[in-house]
Amino acid sequence: MRRHRRKRKPEPAPPAHRRCTRCGRSLHRFWYFCPDCGKRLVWGDTRRVTRTECYYCGWIVSDSYSYCPWCGSDISDEASSETPLRRPRGFLYHGRCKRGCGGGVQYPMQYCPWCGREQRWPYHHYFEGVCPHCDRGVDDLMDHCIWCGNDATGQDLLRPALRRVRRLLSKVRVPDWGYRILVRPGVSGVDPEYPKVVEIDRRHVDRRDEISWPRLVGLIMHELGHSFLFHHWRFARSARFRKAFGDVSKAYRGVEETWVSFRKRNMSQTPVNHVTAYASKHPLEDFAETFRFYVIRRGRLKDLLAEIGRKGKGVVVYEKFLTLHAYLQELRQKARERE
Ligand SMILES: [Zn+2]
Ligand SMILES: [Zn+2]
Ligand SMILES: [Zn+2]
Ligand SMILES: [Zn+2]
Repeated sequence: MRRHRRKRKPEPAPPAHRRCTRCGRSLHRFWYFCPDCGKRLVWGDTRRVTRTECYYCGWIVSDSYSYCPWCGSDISDEASSETPLRRPRGFLYHGRCKRGCGGGVQYPMQYCPWCGREQRWPYHHYFEGVCPHCDRGVDDLMDHCIWCGNDATGQDLLRPALRRVRRLLSKVRVPDWGYRILVRPGVSGVDPEYPKVVEIDRRHVDRRDEISWPRLVGLIMHELGHSFLFHHWRFARSARFRKAFGDVSKAYRGVEETWVSFRKRNMSQTPVNHVTAYASKHPLEDFAETFRFYVIRRGRLKDLLAEIGRKGKGVVVYEKFLTLHAYLQELRQKARERE
């Protein structure tokens, strides 16, 4: 009996994963770069689905396309469809062209294959953050942007400040707690749920000619103070911490980020019981500011204590530095014991 031939189902979506040939990391189809090693990727028609690849970039395309959806090149010829199609063979339909030509596009096509215009995707649905170089989606642990290949953390934009920050931290011998600095849009800060991730507001480095590096070092150090404390949360809940800084569970009304003051290397005379005015907002800010001063002044307790005396600060400020100092010594001791 001859079976009635049924129309074949659409091509199943090709497997989503492949491994980077340079570093072995698993990759998603149609990423432009490997997020670990930065290798440029080519997604050709390896399974011979469309039997067509873009002449310019080598990625899989359809005969019916007028433009390469991956590199945007004009690839029109006599086979190109005169009207935009919904879903040519070998591709998926994920929505219509964002520019309104009526054709169908598949995520993550960067150009409409029918009209050639650039496409935007709701990257924030799929990724943890935004690449500071191209504004497309990236995850926190990606080193290279999968779209533009640049530094996905944005640390390249902070280089002079980070060099200084790292040098200071190692000089003061603060044990590395695995913090990760990311340049992201929004506000600078640390989410207590992700204590190691330190986000620095992109606006601080947007205008390269106006960057104040010492101020940025101060800001990063302040945020690292938050990260450090969230990471060592038991310390934050300890009696000695509470005695010096207060109760961290105290209600925290969002305070205006006066990052301008993070530049200061010297303590102000007021308020008497905190290193800076900003520190008096909340025990968490108090610790972050104390941490910043301690590290920027290279942990020289004697100098700090002398300054506290000169400025007529309260004994409790002295107590704060001592508390941090003693805790760091304890951490180093523990690290030595583990070795
Ligand atoms: Zn790789
Ligand atoms: Zn192309
Ligand atoms: Zn279009
Ligand atoms: Zn990018």
